[in-house]
Amino acid sequence: MPEPVIYHIDVNSAFLSWEAAFRLRMDPSSEDLRKVPSIIAGDPKSRHGIVLASSIPAKKMGVVTAEPIASALKKCPDALLIAPNYHLYAENSRLLMEHLRKYAPTVDQFSIDEAFCDMTGTELLYGNLIDFAYKLKNEIYQSYGFTVNIGISTNYLLAKMASDFEKPNKVHTLFPDEIQEKMWPLPVENLLFVGKSTAASLHRLGIHTIKDLATSSPQLLSSHLKKQGQTAWQYANGICDDTHFTREATNKGYSHSTTLSKDCTDPALAKEILLSLCETVGARLREDKMKISVVSVTIKNTDFESHSKQTSLYSHTDVTDEIYTTACKLFDSLYDGSPIRLLCVSTSKATDDSNYQYDLFHSEQHEKLEKLDSAIDEVRSKFGQDSIQRATFLKKK
Ligand SMILES: [Mg+2]
Repeated sequence: MPEPVIYHIDVNSAFLSWEAAFRLRMDPSSEDLRKVPSIIAGDPKSRHGIVLASSIPAKKMGVVTAEPIASALKKCPDALLIAPNYHLYAENSRLLMEHLRKYAPTVDQFSIDEAFCDMTGTELLYGNLIDFAYKLKNEIYQSYGFTVNIGISTNYLLAKMASDFEKPNKVHTLFPDEIQEKMWPLPVENLLFVGKSTAASLHRLGIHTIKDLATSSPQLLSSHLKKQGQTAWQYANGICDDTHFTREATNKGYSHSTTLSKDCTDPALAKEILLSLCETVGARLREDKMKISVVSVTIKNTDFESHSKQTSLYSHTDVTDEIYTTACKLFDSLYDGSPIRLLCVSTSKATDDSNYQYDLFHSEQHEKLEKLDSAIDEVRSKFGQDSIQRATFLKKK
């Protein structure tokens, strides 16, 4: 068996780079947004909302992702504010994934601007796989005008840690024999999936660097942090089951399906059923303090044929309405009019730390929806499942 080789490809400041590349394509004489302080802002007109992405010059002035726009403008008063353009992002994401599929036997999209490519055994085709990563990175830049970082290692965890080293437009390796030199000196919060609360617990135990974590006793960690402590210790030692990145949520059962008592051909009715499925999935996610970034819908018809489709969200969410809106879009693109026997909504790419991905939905609207969900959850926990219903359900009565 050849040693596994995994690439993790990550677009540098994706939303900003994609916008910059688009503007330069439209007008080659225009200013490159990446070279001046600029911010992709949730709601630039009202100056509410948060920073979704920022250029390196803006970052140098202290602007950070997810901070309120008003606070970013205090640090960086001359920053250009640019409204998000989701269609542009979706299009660039698609181009990137297609490009990767030309070369990689397996492409596992992780978010809108990130993917893992399993390159194991492809040396025969492409030669040295470190050299080839440089070629791939440059080819992406030449084809679409945006830069990526590529991290290379033997598993998903280490490849992703590697792509996060110095940016932009870089290739880094983090092979197991480089862990001590390249990964151990980093602060423990830089370790993948170590969220703020885990980091705080680790600091209380006197663990500050990844090396501290890797060399501490796994028994001590599990006694303070349970399963999470064990996983963190394994990650600090470069040990990781790649299915953590892909199958976690399905294993945890954040999906719900229902077999219909009568075959259904009415899309409006099907969507009401979808809403109730999304309610259940959303409530379970919120109960476990998890957020997901992939939604899929399965429709089984009366001939027992089943059709599924999934999509990645721009950000992690546990909001029923956001899961439902996505599920409806998937349903619309799947449904062929044949009688429905079973509907299923499932989610994946769950994480308990929404901070490591920028939170695009973290707008005022998102906050309102989060509050609505928690109010509904509370009423239901006190008075039972049927004590409160969404307006869509009530209209029918
Ligand atoms: Mg990125």
